Amino acid sequence: MVEVLKYDLVIIGSGLAGLRAAFEAARVSQGKIRIAVLSKVHAMRSHSVSAEGGASAVLYPKETGDSLDLHAYDTVKGSDFLADQDAVELLVQEAPKEIIFMDHLGVPWSRDEKGRILQRPFGGMSIPRTTFAQDKSGFFLMSTLYDNVLRFDNVEMLHEHFVTSLLMDHGVFKGVTAIDLRTGEFKVILAKAGIIATGGNGRVYKFTTMAWSSTGDGYSLAYRAGIPLKDMEFPQFHPTA
Ligand SMILES: Cc1cc2nc3c(=O)[nH]c(=O)nc-3n(C[C@H](O)[C@H](O)[C@H](O)COP(=O)(O)OP(=O)(O)OC[C@H]3O[C@@H](n4cnc5c(N)ncnc54)[C@H](O)[C@@H]3O)c2cc1C
Repeated sequence: MVEVLKYDLVIIGSGLAGLRAAFEAARVSQGKIRIAVLSKVHAMRSHSVSAEGGASAVLYPKETGDSLDLHAYDTVKGSDFLADQDAVELLVQEAPKEIIFMDHLGVPWSRDEKGRILQRPFGGMSIPRTTFAQDKSGFFLMSTLYDNVLRFDNVEMLHEHFVTSLLMDHGVFKGVTAIDLRTGEFKVILAKAGIIATGGNGRVYKFTTMAWSSTGDGYSLAYRAGIPLKDMEFPQFHPTA
């Protein structure tokens, strides 16, 4: 008998994107919905733990002369004017709020002697705006988010569950199929909504600094379910390989 599990929301992926989505869904729903986070590795082994450098945000516009417009301009210029500018606008607007939110959640951002969150320059920035936690930004963000997601009783972590397909009925998401890698058991996981947060596909290439798990499964799951993929010609090679 195939085990059938039922949730309201299923999130595929437990990197920074998946855990942040889980936290927000749990917070907004105030315990009223059942959420499952599926990950083919243990959550804390998701690729995000290896991000080092930090995240850009305009934190001190008055003191530094930085602005959301300048952050957006630097980002669009850095993309050779090919970036989706609506997405850039949203990114720069949300970034400062997100840095402060993660600060309140407990991320130990590096600070100056006055206790203010430090920022440093990264490539393409007209004003230093990279916020960081030593050289382990991804690890600290992940451990803080993971600890906080575990506080919600309505979020279930299904570690080492490999999602093999999306279940669709006439274009409507119904759930996923997965293999429990610890037992080899095949499971059907039904849900009213799904979020794909399966990270990048660096391992498709011969040279990459991404984790062995970054194999682009999410793209394939979505593509096979008839969901369009966008900007597939723009993988990120970081830092350089
Ligand atoms: C060396 C390095 C340094 C970096 N430094 C920075 C930095 O300083 N700042 C920055 O902004 N970015 C940085 N990046 C980029 C950043 O790490 C990634 O963009 C980010 O971590 C992606 O997060 P994610 O949540 O989308 O995916 P991931 O963290 O890759 O998580 C993907 C999740 O999906 C799950 N998954 C995948 N397929 C399946 C499946 N079939 N079934 C079930 N689960 C599945 C995995 O188990 C995992 O939990 C760096 C990247 C590298 C390589």
